[in-house]
Amino acid sequence: MKQKILVIEDEQDIQTLLEYNLQQAGYEVVVCENGEDGLWLAIEHKPDLILLDWMLPLLSGIEVLRQLRNRTDTREIPVMMLTARGEEGDRLRGLDGGADDYVTKPFSPAELIARVRAILRRHSRGYDAKLTGGDIELDLQTKRVLRGGISIHLGPTEFKLLEHFMRNQGRVYSRDQLLDSVWGDNVYVEMRTVDVHIRRLRKAINSTGGPDVIRTVRSMGYAFDAKA
Ligand code: CA
Repeated sequence: MKQKILVIEDEQDIQTLLEYNLQQAGYEVVVCENGEDGLWLAIEHKPDLILLDWMLPLLSGIEVLRQLRNRTDTREIPVMMLTARGEEGDRLRGLDGGADDYVTKPFSPAELIARVRAILRRHSRGYDAKLTGGDIELDLQTKRVLRGGISIHLGPTEFKLLEHFMRNQGRVYSRDQLLDSVWGDNVYVEMRTVDVHIRRLRKAINSTGGPDVIRTVRSMGYAFDAKA
């Protein structure tokens, strides 16, 4: 079955360029040219990935992203933002809003496809899949974690945290974002609860004596980095 990509882009020539190249790369492509349709199509089609322009009629890209991330049925869909702007502030705003990647126009189609593939690889989730990072292996079916072949016991929250990190390796998450992704919107937990669970996860996962794979990024948050 082909993976489905939703392209939300109002510039006709870029939309055509994306559609053509993604189809050539073997993806099923759904296109639309404004934010409102884009949001609706995302909910309707549950695409494997969304390419989302920043400046869009009716609903801006950042607003579409916000709404996607607020819905439980769309929050896990990876989003790559497209923009003509190259300013760092926008980039950070996009990533902070939960975008998985960011491409500045004009872009090379080959590079864009490579990045699409990379995101889809990170997000592909068969139910019997295993996630690996460095010498760590997380089995989603048996809920077991191995490090260097040694079994590691994790509580349910630490398991979910590690799963989230391993699906998005290298990416820095703020406490807020971790609360949203791991605990969900409807649960009230204090920020420092995140630190407590990170500490437990770190202790357990590093108990075999391997290098620390949880990176603390000062005043930003945490990331999983197995490539020390
Ligand atoms: Ca645009």
